[in-house]
Amino acid sequence: MFIKTIDFSKFTSIKIGPKVDILIIEKGDSIPKDRYLIGHGNNLLISPTPPPLMMLGNDFDFIKIEDNILYVGCATSTGRLLSFAKKHNISGFEFISKLPGSIGGMVAMNAGVKEYEIFNILDSIKIDGQWIKAQSIEHGYRFARLNGVATEARFVIKNGFNKELLENLLSLRSNQPKVPSAGSLFKNPLNDYAGRLIEGVGLKGKQIGGMAWSEVHANFLVNIGGGTFEDSINLINLAKQLVLEQYKIALQEEVRIL
Ligand SMILES: Cc1cc2nc3c(=O)[nH]c(=O)nc-3n(C[C@H](O)[C@H](O)[C@H](O)COP(=O)(O)OP(=O)(O)OC[C@H]3O[C@@H](n4cnc5c(N)ncnc54)[C@H](O)[C@@H]3O)c2cc1C
Repeated sequence: MFIKTIDFSKFTSIKIGPKVDILIIEKGDSIPKDRYLIGHGNNLLISPTPPPLMMLGNDFDFIKIEDNILYVGCATSTGRLLSFAKKHNISGFEFISKLPGSIGGMVAMNAGVKEYEIFNILDSIKIDGQWIKAQSIEHGYRFARLNGVATEARFVIKNGFNKELLENLLSLRSNQPKVPSAGSLFKNPLNDYAGRLIEGVGLKGKQIGGMAWSEVHANFLVNIGGGTFEDSINLINLAKQLVLEQYKIALQEEVRIL
């Protein structure tokens, strides 16, 4: 293991955060219990004073096939896995296009699009050196109770990469803001959409400092230039307060605030 300085204002997708020394974990290292693990920073909002952090290093960035099973290291990017699936004509991974992040982050968030979620295709994950079957892990919409750091994921290979599905899912994405964000800020409440509620309380496009609720998609908190953690928290709290008052719904963050 070694220490690396990361500038979170460049590293995270929302382009906010301080420069911090973080611990990089490589194969064979014991994983500390007193540090928070980050993936590729696409679902994070980092405060000026985050807890001690760690990250998986290059040893966990790999893809291999053995006996019709795909083994993917949890530091592997979704982009690399998608290219691999395309090249080897493997089905099931089409939905990860345009879902930025690492495989570890995807599993921890049960990331997905529409009815496609990573847990639908995940066979098992390795935590503390033990393979655990996906069905035995409590999970749901944008949630999975991993109870540890996932280092590797296993998928049963099914042939037939679906180019048409990929194109359809890509076209769905054309309505997303192009400016820095961390994806959807809140989870959608049951049978409703966080974006609809934010729009309903009049906050679509609302700006504080360098942050705004996007004009394109109201549940995207976007950094329109020089946005800070404080601007973000002010907008998040405002949305939660107004939605609670008007709709009696308590919005819950999907983005992890550290
Ligand atoms: C433009 C944009 C669009 C997006 N669209 C979608 C979407 O449509 N659907 C969707 O689901 N998400 C979406 N996201 C969010 C993001 O793509 C996913 O949440 C992704 O899985 C985050 O991966 P990450 O590696 O960046 O994780 P991070 O943001 O770094 O971390 C997220 C969480 O995962 C945990 N984690 C990371 N790695 C591990 C590991 N190895 N073991 C245990 N826990 C781990 C972290 O502790 C943290 O709690 C979008 C984000 C952006 C920026």
